[in-house]
Amino acid sequence: MKGELTKKKVRRIKVDLDKCNGCRACELLCSAFHAKPRFSSINPARSRIRVVTDEINDEYVPIRATDYTKAGCEGRRVYTINGKEYSECSFCGSVCPTRNLFKDPDTGLPLKCDMCEDDPPQEEPLCVQACSLNALTLEEEEVEEEVVEEVKPGEMELGLRSLIDRYGMQKLADTFARMSQKS
Ligand code: SF4
Ligand code: SF4
Repeated sequence: MKGELTKKKVRRIKVDLDKCNGCRACELLCSAFHAKPRFSSINPARSRIRVVTDEINDEYVPIRATDYTKAGCEGRRVYTINGKEYSECSFCGSVCPTRNLFKDPDTGLPLKCDMCEDDPPQEEPLCVQACSLNALTLEEEEVEEEVVEEVKPGEMELGLRSLIDRYGMQKLADTFARMSQKS
């Protein structure tokens, strides 16, 4: 059955690799925005954007965290852009076990870019605001989409899933049982 068509504004962050110089201001502002309380601390490990850096080859690739994945992929392609070679991983925002990116430094839980969701929303995402070289720019487009009811896993579900992957179901169940006995 076809759903209703509605117009929706889609926001994307465009990356210009030639302009990025690896200053990491984007990481700092993103991590400060997501600190609790907001702007109380700066820790790039908490940032939802990280700059994959290869100084010898003068390569800087800002990538934003996307989805949590239980296993690393087999893809190890190499891309050549403007005469420079980049590994496939340099462009991947997945939170995967083969590298230590996009995991909350305190809890180990996966981080994900939320386009700085806030109420009211940010006029420009914080990483875009931080980038004085315009390596990151915001693009907005209005698209039509069909309204389909979809149940997405919430943050809590994603967090639980990654804890189960790390510690196993039985260990978590035992921990919860112990906690409920104490309370
Ligand atoms: S702030 Fe801009 S130039 Fe600096 S690292 Fe981030 S994307 Fe690159
Ligand atoms: S859009 Fe916001 S949440 Fe996403 S990487 Fe940029 S600053 Fe971080």
